[in-house]
Amino acid sequence: MLSRYKFRRPFKLCKFRFFSSYVENPEAISKRSSSSTSCSSSNPSLVCSNNLTIIKHSDQGEIFQLNKIIARCVRSGDLDGALRVFNGMRVKDTVTWNSLLVGFTKDPSRMREAHQLFDEIPEPDTFSYNIMSSCYVRNGNFDKARSFFKQTPVKDAASWNTMITGYARRSEMEKARELFDEMTEKNEVSWNAMISGYVECGDLEMALSFFKAAPVRGVVAWTAMITGYMKAKKVELAEAMFKDMTVKRNLVTWNAMISGYVENSLSEDGLKLFKAMLKDGIRPNPSGLSSVLLGCSELSALRLGRQIHQLVCKATLCNDVTTLTSLISMYCKCGDLDDAWKLFKAMKRKDVVPWNAMISGYAQHGKAEKALCLFREMRENKIRPDRITFVAVLLACNHAGLVDIGMEFFDSMVRDYGVEPRSDHYSCMVDLLGRAGKLEEASKLIKSMPFRPHAVDYGALLGACRVHKNVEMAEFASKKLLELNPRNAAGYVQLANVYASRNLWEDVARVRKRMKQSNVVKVPGYSWIEIGNNIHQFRSSERIHPELDSIHNKLKELEKKMILAGYTPELEFALRDVEEEHKEKLLLWHSEKLAVAFGCLKLPQGSRIQVFKNLRICGDCHKAMKFISEIEKREIIVRDTTRFHHFKDGSCSCGDYW
Ligand SMILES: [Zn+2]
Ligand SMILES: [Zn+2]
Repeated sequence: MLSRYKFRRPFKLCKFRFFSSYVENPEAISKRSSSSTSCSSSNPSLVCSNNLTIIKHSDQGEIFQLNKIIARCVRSGDLDGALRVFNGMRVKDTVTWNSLLVGFTKDPSRMREAHQLFDEIPEPDTFSYNIMSSCYVRNGNFDKARSFFKQTPVKDAASWNTMITGYARRSEMEKARELFDEMTEKNEVSWNAMISGYVECGDLEMALSFFKAAPVRGVVAWTAMITGYMKAKKVELAEAMFKDMTVKRNLVTWNAMISGYVENSLSEDGLKLFKAMLKDGIRPNPSGLSSVLLGCSELSALRLGRQIHQLVCKATLCNDVTTLTSLISMYCKCGDLDDAWKLFKAMKRKDVVPWNAMISGYAQHGKAEKALCLFREMRENKIRPDRITFVAVLLACNHAGLVDIGMEFFDSMVRDYGVEPRSDHYSCMVDLLGRAGKLEEASKLIKSMPFRPHAVDYGALLGACRVHKNVEMAEFASKKLLELNPRNAAGYVQLANVYASRNLWEDVARVRKRMKQSNVVKVPGYSWIEIGNNIHQFRSSERIHPELDSIHNKLKELEKKMILAGYTPELEFALRDVEEEHKEKLLLWHSEKLAVAFGCLKLPQGSRIQVFKNLRICGDCHKAMKFISEIEKREIIVRDTTRFHHFKDGSCSCGDYW
């Protein structure tokens, strides 16, 4: 890195050399047109008479060549190389200065040097001013940006657009609008900046009116509108825009649609569109692939995830950190830890993101030891843990019930790494303490939070009360939870569960009545399993699956064997004050049991069964899965909303701590 002292001297020298050439060649005075290659303003008024530039005609070719070299160095990030060429130049024109200026403004830490360099330019042109204001806009220093904009002697469209875009990106639409109205010759960029700005701050009505008024609507404007509608969950409007596009869609447009679908929980549509995009001959980029892989994770579509992995290899993205990290996450979330690990091991360059993905993969699968081991290895590799790392580490402790270690990490976050705990860290700790039976401590931690607790914190406390059958604390947590979110079904259901666990059926009935009065609907539970190329979905007490009879028979057969092996149903999870026998039936037809029984029927003997559930697995199903894994002699994996349970030989990887 060049020190400031070393930096300034060569410029003085250059200036000196520059003027000496003037003295030596008085006849070579020529008015220099400020012909910048990237942005030009050949306005003659820019070249004022007392600031004439003198370049010999014979020099012009040389300057042109050397300018090209400087620009190339700057593009490839070799600023020192650019400086060497610059310092060696006998004569320079404004393009030379501007090219170097671009290099300095690329690095936010060298803004002071950039400013000094600007001050040294003998004849800054519009482009020089634009470079300065645009980089101050990028770095968020709007006062400086504005002052350069104001000083710009002759503003071109780029000068205006830089400021308009800057304000629009900060959602300061009033200021953007003022400049936009003042601008005399607006171009497509100006219109796009306004449309994107309104989209960004969620004012879709204004965005649409600008979109309609724009004289030319390019792909950027269409894509901005699509992105806006998707963000506002107006999927149908986004679809209509996409369909009506009068210009050719580009990769960004396709990505906006695909990621929009995935973010709106319509992963299947996202994956379909992705296939259509490939058919259209568009090659995906890392950001698009990340969305698609996220879609695969949501749907647990491992088969498709693998196909995308092949595509990644074909598209020579095998070394792209973003794409590989998305693949690792996809494998983890689809339950294939081995393939995730293989990919992770093979990655040559790893920043904190892939480490986080792998650690949190192990954490979700309850493999705390591996997660913590990897965390240690990460620090040994001099990778600094961030906020996400600690969420994963605390999750690992949480899923393994490692209370003391978790507490230690929670304290060391700030102390050793300067990472302030946020709400997700606190929720994790509340859950950890609560499930370990330290309900008082958990409740104290919630009270000590430096911000307003979220519903999820009371939800975690309430869940812990269910495990530990603590009615008093459950009533408190449920009350708080419903204050924050009156339509939270868990606030009622979990409380009812706690009452049921204590056989307080009148209280259960009271809670259910209140829930009904408040129009809160419990999210219906369903599970799904991938068999061949199809995903089979089951609701609790499913009625329409074509193979329901054989599934019920299989479950009855399993139940007999389970009872012989010592299974007794956990009736509290039936949650209804009905005949015991009916409760047993209700439990037996829980969606995860239906899906597992279907897997037993369809998948080869001894092979692994993997089931996904949209809610947390219930206590009775958890118990039953352990028995089934032993009876059927196969591994059963159930992914619920919080983690993976690996059932094998009659026990679960979570050690019944969940
Ligand atoms: Zn169940
Ligand atoms: Zn488990």
